[in-house]
Amino acid sequence: MFDVVIIGAGPAGASAALFTAKAGKKTLVVDNDKSITKRAWIENHYGVKEVTGPALVETGKEQAKKFGAEIVQATVTNISKTENGFRVESDQNQYEAKHVIVATGMMADLAETVGLKTKPGTEPRIKTILDVDAAGKTNIQGIWAAGTIAGVSMHTIITAGDGAKVAINVISEINGERYVDHDILKS
Ligand SMILES: Cc1cc2nc3c(=O)[nH]c(=O)nc-3n(C[C@H](O)[C@H](O)[C@H](O)COP(=O)(O)OP(=O)(O)OC[C@H]3O[C@@H](n4cnc5c(N)ncnc54)[C@H](O)[C@@H]3O)c2cc1C
Repeated sequence: MFDVVIIGAGPAGASAALFTAKAGKKTLVVDNDKSITKRAWIENHYGVKEVTGPALVETGKEQAKKFGAEIVQATVTNISKTENGFRVESDQNQYEAKHVIVATGMMADLAETVGLKTKPGTEPRIKTILDVDAAGKTNIQGIWAAGTIAGVSMHTIITAGDGAKVAINVISEINGERYVDHDILKS
């Protein structure tokens, strides 16, 4: 049983995984390696002068793994409710999760299969997004969404930030109190 299964390892998903794993939550990321970010050349990500999309995505996954997140390559085909949480089915395996974060970028097909409430996208070239509240909650309790699929502006700093925001909300809900992750510079 994973505390959190995250679908998608782009900036939104890997950023969420970094936070949940660092908070000690058993975290799995399932990704099918179709991140649109891999086509980008990026000069507008605060704190990073310039970076290729593939390098940003790879570093994000390495950061999440460093804190204990597991990352597997597979396509998630369904999410169904169980007694204690959710069953996440992929073309390779199936996993049990207490919480699920959908971070599938421009891909809304899985969300539609699962019965998550969608609405028309507002960003250029984004047809369909999930109907989420300010915390990132979908219409199914325990399933959250972050990044492009959650309708935020399609920029790496924003999708990564949204993944972090949603992860902090998930961690806070699991812990029963607001969570903050601050490391202090050693003098
Ligand atoms: C050509 C191009 C140039 C860009 N240039 C810039 C730029 O200069 N600056 C900037 O800030 N932004 C840029 N962007 C935008 C930026 O890449 C995106 O806005 C943002 O990073 C998307 O992050 P995401 O995590 O939401 O989605 P993605 O990075 O697309 O990640 C989604 C992940 O979910 C996975 N996935 C989807 N469905 C499933 C499933 N069913 N099962 C398993 N895995 C699944 C995919 O494989 C993918 O890895 C550019 C985009 C493009 C296309």
